[in-house]
Amino acid sequence: MLIAALALCVCSEDLVITSEHFRLTTAVADSERLDEVIGDLEQLWINATELFGFEHSTDELIDVFFYDTAEAYQLAEQKLTQGAFATSYAFSDYNTKSSHVVLQPPSSPSVLERIGIPKQSRKLLVHEAAHAFFYGIYNNYRSFPDWWAEGYATWLAAETGIDRGWMDSRSSDPNSSTREQQLLDILDSDRLPSVEALLLGKLEGLTGGEKYAYYELFFRFLMETTSDAKKVELFREARRLGAGWDSRCDSRWSLKRSSETWQESK
Ligand SMILES: [Zn+2]
Repeated sequence: MLIAALALCVCSEDLVITSEHFRLTTAVADSERLDEVIGDLEQLWINATELFGFEHSTDELIDVFFYDTAEAYQLAEQKLTQGAFATSYAFSDYNTKSSHVVLQPPSSPSVLERIGIPKQSRKLLVHEAAHAFFYGIYNNYRSFPDWWAEGYATWLAAETGIDRGWMDSRSSDPNSSTREQQLLDILDSDRLPSVEALLLGKLEGLTGGEKYAYYELFFRFLMETTSDAKKVELFREARRLGAGWDSRCDSRWSLKRSSETWQESK
């Protein structure tokens, strides 16, 4: 599977940089500029290992592809996922356990020289690598609901950004603060689906962006209101149960009650 991912590297100008846990393939910048990206990815490894509560020991490096143009990204995306993520400009592939991100916003070499790799790109690289990390440790990955997958990836990207100094706080991030506002608007208009609906993936009344806001904020809520021991216990159980854990999650964490309290406090 890894060979399939590596076969995507068709450009002779691509740099391949390996670190302890990742292999970064890119034509975006020189290796000096990319040190900060490698540092982000290794910090993500530490944070993800801590979040999921165990050592992830593997000899296989996680492949991260960082494209300089939308065309290069779409060429690779077409080969792996046949257009499913053609316009999202960032995705991870379960089969090859690899991540793919295009430089965002588009930046010339002189801009990169001046400001370094843009924060938006660094955040996306870490977010996607968090998905790829998870693919490697949870064989039942495909059975997990979207709120969980997007929730932990967004959580870990912010945590890593804060640790690495390119994010002051979750609320100061433009994407996260937009989603906070979106969720508050849904609450104000009495449209927030129950936690049960979220857990069961029944969010038909919400737009794609609103769903994402709910995923992110609900996961953050869980992380910020749950003891570390309880988190580790739940993540271990999730790993064991896969899709069968939704109902247990509900009783174990008293999610409905917590959510009601949360809504009342708003
Ligand atoms: Zn994601």
